[in-house]
Amino acid sequence: MKKVLIVDDASVVRLMIKKVLMQSDFEIVGEAVNGIDALTKYKSLRPDVVTMDITMPEADGIQATKDIMAFDENAKVVIMSGIDQKEMLWQAIKAGAASYIVKPFENDRVISTLNEVTAGK
Ligand SMILES: [Mg+2]
Repeated sequence: MKKVLIVDDASVVRLMIKKVLMQSDFEIVGEAVNGIDALTKYKSLRPDVVTMDITMPEADGIQATKDIMAFDENAKVVIMSGIDQKEMLWQAIKAGAASYIVKPFENDRVISTLNEVTAGK
């Protein structure tokens, strides 16, 4: 099973993503609540893919994406973007994000996007 790290400061959003992934072939190996936590957990858990919130305390999703890509250039980071966060989303793509999902997300879209970015891994 491919391993997923869920990064979001809102526990309710993490729970929503977990519920979606429980119906899939992905294994949730961990959760992080900010960008610093995301990098630490990425290093220890080595997930195949990361779902990344943008707005978080400590370090946001853009910084965390930069840091994870600097640590592992093959990392697969999927940005979970608000519909009103186009500029931030663009910055995250420039930072090396593999793909993105616009919130409120559709369950099928989450699974298909994670499958796409981890294909061949
Ligand atoms: Mg947030």
